[in-house]
This record gives sequence, structure tokens and C-alpha cells, in this order.
Amino acid sequence: MRSDEYDRLYLSPPHLGRHELNYVHKAIEDNWVAPTGPNLDGFERDLSQYVGVQHCVALSSGTAAIHLALLLLGVGPGDEVIVPSFTFVATASPVRYVGAEPVFVDSEPTTWNLCPARLREALAARAQLGRPVKAVIVVHLYGMPARLPELLAVAAEYGVPVLEDAAEALGSRHQGQPLGSFGEVAVLSFNGNKIITTSGGGALLTNHAEYARQARWLATQAKDPAPHYQHSTLGYNYRLSNILAGIGRGQMELIEDRVKRRREIYALYQELLRPVAALEVGPAEPAGLRSNRWLTTVLLNPEYTEHTPEYLRQHLEAHNIESRPLWKPLHLQPLFTDSPAYGGEVCADLFRRGLCLPSGSSMTDADVRRVVKALREIL
Ligand SMILES: *Cc1c(COP(=O)(O)O)cnc(C)c1O
Repeated sequence: MRSDEYDRLYLSPPHLGRHELNYVHKAIEDNWVAPTGPNLDGFERDLSQYVGVQHCVALSSGTAAIHLALLLLGVGPGDEVIVPSFTFVATASPVRYVGAEPVFVDSEPTTWNLCPARLREALAARAQLGRPVKAVIVVHLYGMPARLPELLAVAAEYGVPVLEDAAEALGSRHQGQPLGSFGEVAVLSFNGNKIITTSGGGALLTNHAEYARQARWLATQAKDPAPHYQHSTLGYNYRLSNILAGIGRGQMELIEDRVKRRREIYALYQELLRPVAALEVGPAEPAGLRSNRWLTTVLLNPEYTEHTPEYLRQHLEAHNIESRPLWKPLHLQPLFTDSPAYGGEVCADLFRRGLCLPSGSSMTDADVRRVVKALREIL
């Protein structure tokens, strides 16, 4: 069969349900599209209940949420922030927005997330240099929970607050506790490719009322308490609109279904690819950790194949199937060549051998079989 007889399979497209439109419709009917409004309040309530945190501030993007979180933690010019090297650039860019510098730390092989031993090494080394670190950003990549107890203990040992980047991990759990509830501040993303979407959006989560109050204030231009538009603090325009929050409310009704389907897709890939020695579906869930399986990833085993992930990607593309390399480590990015890095071999190896496969919750089992069939043609 010619490949163009198939529809294109995307990596992680938006997957809307039936009720988003009701919330959007209500906002328009009530002439309440801005500012803030009932959908925004409702979406924030849905999120804080689901994650189990006291406060939620819905924002225009996950990147904006990280920016505000850094400001809340007092990160400023000349400070340093620990960032995992293996993540999307948006974890690190806001560190530069506030005039601070990222210090990159390698992954550990079981979860692919921040390595606790390397974190301790980095914190000790920066302290030795007289460059105390202001915050540690922990990311749960592709939905897999990081080694939280160890990471939180190391950060606490050095008295450094943890910012949890759960942009890819809504619906994941650590010993039953939802991710996004572990950091002093945590962030979520509702970008179009994430597990739920508002087309674009993000949120800041925290148990500290003062942080939430400050985040709302900074996100709406930081007005002084005066009727005449007086300003003494630099503010931002980062609030999510009441329309987009309506999409988010509809999506939150579906979050458990979406997680369930992504996990089924991962399990089916794993079953169908078991006979293919050259490919390893990964990583497995360590005991007590439950991933939302935002994206299913595979690693090539060079003992069984000479192919590169890029060769696989082009082969899938010829079958009208979208796939993507794993995140290129940030310590290898031109933007960050001058930033300090501790380790980096683990994530560099993952990047060299890895590929993300189509994983959207709207995929059928037949779609998964189609991807596997295309892979098996060359492996
Ligand atoms: C998507 C993502 C972000 C940024 O979220 P946006 O809503 O796209 O700004 C930050 N960190 C990680 C790990 C992400 O995957």
C-alpha cells in the first residue's frame, strides 16, 4: 500500500472532548471573556483539587509559570539555578530571563531524570566556589516521575528550594501522590502537544498563599494599591483568558481517560516491539512510580543495529508518521555553551540512541500497529 493512502499520524496532537465548547459558549453568552472570570476560577479549582495543592494560578504558558516561579523564589541577576541537562529548553530559558545562569546536571538511567548523586556533587562544587545555588528545578521528563525523595533530601541538605517542572507530567504519581505537589512551587503546561491542552496555557501550583497572591499580582502588571496606575515593581501580562480556561475545564473532565489511553498505547508498543531486539521501549516504571506515559520513547541498541534514530525518523516520515528525537541535552546547545555542567554522558547517550513515537490519546490500536509495522520493515 502506498504510504500516502494513510492519514498523517502526529506525535501528540490535541485531543478535544465534548464539553469544552459548553464552557466556552457560556463565557461568550455571559459576555465574560475577560478579565479572569468563572472558567478561570473553575479551572484553577479543578487543577488544585486534582493535584492536591492549596493554590493554583492559571497562566498563559508553562514558560511564563517557570518565569514567575523563579521570581517567587527570589532568583535574580548573578544567581545560579540547577537545571537538568535533559529537558526542553523552556525549563532553562526563564533562568536567563531573570538574569541568572543555569548549572546543568546529568540524568540517572532508571527514570532519565535528574541524578541525585550528580546533584549533590554540583551543589557541593558550587558552594565551594562561593556560588550558592538559589533553586533546583526538577523535571519529570515524558511523564516519568523523578527520584523525588532523594532529590528533595539533597536539596534540603543544602537549603535550596525545589521548583517542580511538571509540564509533561500531569496525571503521573509518586507513591500515589500526584506530581506537581512536591516542589515549593510547581508548574504545568497546557500547550497543544501536552496531555491536556487549552491550545496554549500553563499553571503555577503551590501550598504557600503568599506565593499564589504574588504570582497573580505579577501576572497582571503588578499594580500598586492606588487607583491611578502606579507601579513600583516590574510586572507581566501572563494571565490565562477566561475563554481558554473554559477549554481547560472540559479537558480536566477527561484527564483520567487521557492518562489511561496513553498508558495503554505505551503497553501496546511494548508488547509489539518485544521481539525487536534492536529497540528497547523505555524506561520501565521503578516500584512506586506511575508515569502518565505522555510520550512513548524507544532506544536503539547498537549491538543489534547500525541504524540511527534519524534514519528511523526519516523512514517513518516516508510512511506519513511523525516522530521526534529525544530532547537534545541543554549542555550541548549553542545557547548554553558557557554554562557549567556536571556530568552529561548519560543524557547525551540517550539523545544519541532515542526517538519519540506517536503517542496521542486519540490513536487507535491499529495506528500503533501501523507504526510498529513500519519500524519492523527496517529492524
Ligand atoms: C512544554 C514544556 C514547558 C513549557 O511549557 P509551555 O506551555 O509550552 O510554555 C516547560 N518544560 C517542559 C519540560 C515542557 O515539556
